[in-house]
Amino acid sequence: MTTERYEMVVGLEVHVQLKTRTKAFCGCSADFGAAPNVNTCPVCLALPGALPVLNEHAVTLATRAALGLGCSVNPISVFARKNYFYPDLPKGYQISQFDQPLATGGSVAIGETAKGADIRIGITRVHMEEDAGKSIHDRYPGATAIDLNRSGVPLIEIVSEPDIRSAAGAGAYLRTLKQILQYLDVSDVSMEEGSLRVDANISVRLPGESKLGTKTEVKNMNSFSAVERALEIEFARQCALVESGGKVEQQTLLWDGEREAVRPSRSKEGSHDYRYFPEPDLRPLLLDAQWIAHVRDELPELPDARRKRLVADFALAPTEVEQLTSSPAIAEYFEAVARASGDGKAAYNWVMGEVIAALRASGSGVDSFRVRPADLAQLLNLVRDGTISHTAGKRVFARMVETGKQAAQVAADEGLLQVGDDAVIAGWVDEVLAEHPQEAARYLAGEKKLQGVLVGFVMRKSQGRADPKRVNQLLAARAG
Ligand SMILES: [Zn+2]
Repeated sequence: MTTERYEMVVGLEVHVQLKTRTKAFCGCSADFGAAPNVNTCPVCLALPGALPVLNEHAVTLATRAALGLGCSVNPISVFARKNYFYPDLPKGYQISQFDQPLATGGSVAIGETAKGADIRIGITRVHMEEDAGKSIHDRYPGATAIDLNRSGVPLIEIVSEPDIRSAAGAGAYLRTLKQILQYLDVSDVSMEEGSLRVDANISVRLPGESKLGTKTEVKNMNSFSAVERALEIEFARQCALVESGGKVEQQTLLWDGEREAVRPSRSKEGSHDYRYFPEPDLRPLLLDAQWIAHVRDELPELPDARRKRLVADFALAPTEVEQLTSSPAIAEYFEAVARASGDGKAAYNWVMGEVIAALRASGSGVDSFRVRPADLAQLLNLVRDGTISHTAGKRVFARMVETGKQAAQVAADEGLLQVGDDAVIAGWVDEVLAEHPQEAARYLAGEKKLQGVLVGFVMRKSQGRADPKRVNQLLAARAG
């Protein structure tokens, strides 16, 4: 394999749509999924004389994202026009930021080395910009339609350093980034709805070389796994090219997921000169230190910090905590159950087992889940103190999901409260021995291994309510 002789060098540009109600420079709705061209006005349609007005909330969310990614936020940043022609860009330019971006110099930890040090990917910059419209090529035969609902929607672009060395590393970076942005609550980060988009810059070099090779830019990936696959394919292509004495040409490539191949983009975007210049209709963005400090104070706990805290507080394994913190809402739900029940391990097992399964089955989110953390904690306590058996607990949970009733109520209604009363259990034992005379005779004659079978019969007869420990004791006493 020629690929083994070379090192992959990757930097990613991630565009993220900010979660604002309105667009970046006008009052139009920024919602996804409206009928084409409904959310438009003279500003985002670029009618003559219309002037942009900056959306303050977009600035807050962009700053929050930049601080969450460890960047320094610049007290002065400047909006600039990025000029190019495209049918879905009526202004003929995009408002972006160029040489004075909102923020610079952050990093994201994507894992640990064998020695336990963080593997960090540097963030070069985070800048604000607006989205362009959308060209729809395949709906009307022989024609391209334009939808300008997305025109002017606020984005941030997060540019990484070329610190990524493998396709899996790119995947890890993207998943970590997405999780941080979810915790920061600045974006829906949905690749399906286009609120998170990824372009990859990739080059190859021999290990130990410090100079970067000529890069290509790969676009059009619609999932994180597509990014990983596209990088593997493009890496192999560049390695084979260099190995055979050829040269990598700087160009923009489009990923074709169906054919698992990259092909050159017809638009030659790599060769653009965007003729950036400061946007004359917007003043420089001035952010005072106190305001930045305030946004920093409001940052929520981020995934890395939360993982470390949950490991320490609830004695869970790092892999368990990894699963729990994959979504902030699940992590919060777990923590509430664990605190209310005082049992982190049981809370973990129930949340990752029954709760996740129920959410998947109903297709709803944990925020609207019927069984609230305090209710689940009560159920855990009933199981732990033996009021109901573990098996009965699962039935109670299923009824709680259906009805929204409390655990104790459901257990009483369904007759699932565990029976520890010896007289009642002894009655069930008698019945079972009478109903299974052969097994009973063999067991009483000393065939100890039949005890499990008989306990099973008693449990079934009691519909799971008998305390299995007492059943075992009573049977053992009969066998003498
Ligand atoms: Zn508008």
